[in-house]
Amino acid sequence: EALAEATARYGARNPASERALAEAADVLPAGNTRSVLFHAPFPLAMARGEGCHLWDVDGHRYLDTLGEFTAGIYGHSNPVIQQAIVSALHDGLSLSSHTLREGPLAHEIQRRFPGMALLRFTNSGTEANLMALAAATVHTGRRKVLVFDGAYHGGVLSFGGGGSPVNVPHDFLVARYNDLEAAQTLVRTHGADLAAILVEPMLGAGGCIPGQPAFLHGLRALADECGALLILDEVMTSRLSSGGRQAQLDLAPDLTTLGKYFGGGLSFGAFGGRADVMSRFDPRRPDALAHAGTFNNNTLTMAAGLAGLTQVLTPAALDALNQRGEQLREGLNAVFAQHAVNLQFTGLGSVMQLHATARPLRSAADLAGADDRVKALLFFDLLERGVFLARRGLVALSLPFGDAQADEFVAALEAVVAARRG
Ligand code: PLP
Repeated sequence: EALAEATARYGARNPASERALAEAADVLPAGNTRSVLFHAPFPLAMARGEGCHLWDVDGHRYLDTLGEFTAGIYGHSNPVIQQAIVSALHDGLSLSSHTLREGPLAHEIQRRFPGMALLRFTNSGTEANLMALAAATVHTGRRKVLVFDGAYHGGVLSFGGGGSPVNVPHDFLVARYNDLEAAQTLVRTHGADLAAILVEPMLGAGGCIPGQPAFLHGLRALADECGALLILDEVMTSRLSSGGRQAQLDLAPDLTTLGKYFGGGLSFGAFGGRADVMSRFDPRRPDALAHAGTFNNNTLTMAAGLAGLTQVLTPAALDALNQRGEQLREGLNAVFAQHAVNLQFTGLGSVMQLHATARPLRSAADLAGADDRVKALLFFDLLERGVFLARRGLVALSLPFGDAQADEFVAALEAVVAARRG
């Protein structure tokens, strides 16, 4: 059928990628060290990137609409970021102590997220969430954590598709996303044991399904009622405005977790919030909570992150990017509507996700029955037209992605859908 044919053509077009993965498979399972990147028959191996374009090892050029799963907001070759990294490099790598770089980055983050009265850096969003949960359990003296079906807070905090086999052993309660009553019922039973409610303001990896404002504000009220901490995972949504989704919704979490673009494109995470909670990490306290990490303040990340926030990613630049994303999503969905196909892009601002269903999506359960083969076919067809996105359908725009690139994406989708319909 059509998908088998498209897959075979993909294989034939990408011999160098296939070889690269096969050679690495001796030491990395299937040549893979990030599960999300794998897809049948094998993923592309990229050789380099520039602006919002990528070149694979077979020499194909792609419009990069994925933007490193939202971490690549600056594009591949922003000169300010490059200069910051080079200049930090000249000062010496890994200085074995504090430097002049971490304070200013923390201040800049706090300016944008004033609810983060105190914060700390980690190497990933996953670690940020782990540490926020540790803080909440110690602060409350309780064990249980309320999370949501379809949520992704990291590889060991994953509640989609039947859950992860390697989740950390917290005592999790799982409720349906956007279902405040379900959360209320659980809190009524378990509220006295609840340390935290951990929630993404939009299910990200779970399908770019926005949390309804009433649901998120309802969780705030529930946390207050039972004395649990509300932890807002803004690792993905922090790019929706310079103060993240919480600023847009006027939502005040107790703790916030960040990651992705704040490191300028290098590995990064941060967690922070209420001073009374976060001050437990003050090492001068006799009852201080330890939080280690060799590279928590690594100079390249600190320098790239600070330069990006202060010189490139102004609130205006971020707003323009998110507006472009809204327009792009409308343009892409107009193609689906015009051809009357059961496909849609959901999301907010500059982040969106393709779904092989046209029904309204409020929670992970609404995705049941969507035919993944349709997405696979669209993915291979778009690659042939020079448009790169995640195999699962994630799109996240970067700053170099302009109106011309948005038009190019819509035109490619139009051609692909028209060809399959015809
Ligand atoms: N939380 C959310 C909402 C994410 O989207 C991700 C990554 O995709 C994470 C946490 C984990 O971040 P990291 O991949 O940096 O560990």
